[in-house]
Amino acid sequence: MQDFHPQNLRYARVVERYSTYIQSPVLRLRFLKNALKNDQPNSLWKRIPFLGTLPDRAMIIVELAKVLPIDQPAPLGIRLTSLLYRIRYALYAVCVALALFAGASLVYAVSKIASSLSVSTEAKDLATSGQPVAAGSNGSEAVAAIGSGAGLTLDRVWLADEGEGFEFYSNGARVLTEFETSGAKRSFYKFDLESLSSWSGAAGSSAGNSSASETFSNPVGIVYHVSESDLLPFADRYNSSLQDHSRALLEYARAHRLYNYLIDRFGRTYRIVRDEFEANHAGNSVWSDGRSVYVNLSASFIGICFEGRGAAMGAEGINEAQIYAARVLTAVLRSKYGIDDANCVTHGLVSVNPSNHLMGYHTDWVSEFPFEALGLSNKYETELAAISRLGFGYDQAYVSAAGGKWPGLEEADARLKEAAEKDGSSVEEKRRQLARGFQHAYSKQRAIEKEQ
Ligand SMILES: [Zn+2]
Repeated sequence: MQDFHPQNLRYARVVERYSTYIQSPVLRLRFLKNALKNDQPNSLWKRIPFLGTLPDRAMIIVELAKVLPIDQPAPLGIRLTSLLYRIRYALYAVCVALALFAGASLVYAVSKIASSLSVSTEAKDLATSGQPVAAGSNGSEAVAAIGSGAGLTLDRVWLADEGEGFEFYSNGARVLTEFETSGAKRSFYKFDLESLSSWSGAAGSSAGNSSASETFSNPVGIVYHVSESDLLPFADRYNSSLQDHSRALLEYARAHRLYNYLIDRFGRTYRIVRDEFEANHAGNSVWSDGRSVYVNLSASFIGICFEGRGAAMGAEGINEAQIYAARVLTAVLRSKYGIDDANCVTHGLVSVNPSNHLMGYHTDWVSEFPFEALGLSNKYETELAAISRLGFGYDQAYVSAAGGKWPGLEEADARLKEAAEKDGSSVEEKRRQLARGFQHAYSKQRAIEKEQ
């Protein structure tokens, strides 16, 4: 029994159509009976319109030939079908080629669309790949692999244009200058880490090296902050209020000389305190790049602030426009001053309380800072020298603020313990000894701040 199937129905229709070539009703009936017996099993080929029915049609023509008069030329439709049947494999090949081409074109088009949509995903991949940017301040390293070879090395970053209220850089950075102000001239010491951490306080000790007498005035690093200001919902119906909020923050920052740069929620970069002056951004703070130690970083580091609250990301916090702005601004500053990646750090990683020797007086960006997205190595994985070499401790609140796991902190703890064991002292004794080195540096730096 033949299944009722669209394919069979189609075959029957074809047979019927060919039967119209036969004039005699008797012959037509015989043709129909024979031809309908011959339906072949369904195959993939049969699904191709017209071409798929060629084998069927050929068979029908064989049946047809039996009943058509032999002294007349076969009708045109039949001759054409016979021809097509004979070259059917070539036709199938053309069909396959066309289908493959169409498929490939579709795959190409889809992949083009997909890749244009997946830019932010790639940025995320970059951020989690933990690929550190090689340290060094030769000023020509790439800011980061951007995935497509599109990254610019720092020597390709220059001031391309400037005008009333703006500066424009070759890497797309745009700095708005309408809120610019001045401040106290930068003046700071570079202390030697080795000398400070072996400082004993005794006259004539090895610390002679650490009491650097030379002061510097070009910025050597960057500290990133969050404004922790009230945020409106990021939606177009709040557009003018969003602008008012940013403007109020900018005016406040200028009045108090809070930062060198502020990046508003639309990703606009404003210069507040000009680079050659110190802004009041870092307070009591310390950072070491592994060679030098800097104390109270407002004098030595540039302060960049994101308008935001906590480390929240997206519409509720720091958004991609701000991260992009910070990325290109960072490249501009690193290029201009030869700032080492190792000295690009966050407030939460440098802020200290000198009176109780604890880390984390301020905790903005104590975690979650998108270092990799800014083309920087992840400083949460860098040993915190303040703990391992300069005698600072921390409390549980600091670790909680960082959200728990923190490789740089763990490494610092391990190093401190090792050093104490080597000296045959307790960790607490070792801390007190190291703290004297910091205290020495702190007093020296404070002395030049008071001269200002
Ligand atoms: Zn801060």
